[in-house]
Amino acid sequence: MQLRPLGATGMRVSPIGFGASPLGNEFGDVSQEESTRAVHEAIDRGINFFDVSPYYGRTLAESRLGLALQGKRDKVLLATKCGRYDTDRFDFSADRLRSSIDESLQRLRTDRVDLFQAHDIEFGTQRQIEEETVPALREIQKSGKARFIGITSYQLELMVRIIERTPVDTVLSYCRFNLLVRDMDDLLTPVAKEKRIGLINASPLHMGLLSESKIPAWHPAPQPLRDTAERVRNLCRDRGVNPVQAGLSYCVQHSYVATTLVGMASVEQVRTNLGALDLCLEQSLLDEIEAAVAPTRNLVWPSGLRENADYSRRLC
Ligand code: NAD
Repeated sequence: MQLRPLGATGMRVSPIGFGASPLGNEFGDVSQEESTRAVHEAIDRGINFFDVSPYYGRTLAESRLGLALQGKRDKVLLATKCGRYDTDRFDFSADRLRSSIDESLQRLRTDRVDLFQAHDIEFGTQRQIEEETVPALREIQKSGKARFIGITSYQLELMVRIIERTPVDTVLSYCRFNLLVRDMDDLLTPVAKEKRIGLINASPLHMGLLSESKIPAWHPAPQPLRDTAERVRNLCRDRGVNPVQAGLSYCVQHSYVATTLVGMASVEQVRTNLGALDLCLEQSLLDEIEAAVAPTRNLVWPSGLRENADYSRRLC
């Protein structure tokens, strides 16, 4: 698989990355055995970037991924996060980050991660993230427990404000660049590119809306977006195209995104998703999808502190 540079880190990552949140039962129950098989299949087929967080399954995903990676740790680049521990439990303080990395390393059965990211920073204040969180991440990097550091958020302008003043190695955006919503390129990509910060695009299926999988109760998408997703799925199916592969194929064409993280928890999903690398969507289908998504184009939902919300967004 053709690897891509992750910003200026020197790391080269697979265009499709393994999103491990489903290993924490975030989208429905899966077993350790199934998780392990999916992880091994992904490694065997050339996926080298794995992303997890203590938040996913409230540490379950990290524990499962750690078990699955036993004996294979050197084959992958491993990213985890800190600062978010439950739907409403956040702590971006330096003290918590220092204990968080040790807990994650233990669950992941390794002595360092390749990327350590502050998770969903829109739930912290910009001031704390800049003055305490990022410096603490750099300290952890200096200690050798993480090779590189990054931030993740649904709110793109917040990440831009931070990277303009406080450099990090990577930024992760989710649900802001895919067949349904595409404002990542208006807001975040140009700055990340100019600063050679690695850009990670997550949730190419809009956290499952473009798949046939059951939508979890926590999913924040408003009904109009769900309806649009259904229309897009139907358009794809009418052409004999798997909507999951269509959604992924679109995302991996991005010229600056290093890796597109898709949540997977079975061998079958890994195989189907990698099939997207060989798919080229017909322009006429893309045009139909474009027309179908126009009414809800760039519809976003609230996330985090009000002061961190992207400006002039249409909140739903
Ligand atoms: P996603 O868009 O990748 O969708 C995941 C859903 O799609 C799951 O229900 C999964 O079972 C289903 N799916 C995947 N492949 C399928 C297939 N071939 N057939 C049928 N269904 C399929 O959403 P996501 O998992 O939220 O995002 C991917 C990863 O990105 C996460 O696992 C996580 O690692 C990362 N992420 C990070 C953040 C953050 O840091 N704030 C936010 C969102 C996602």
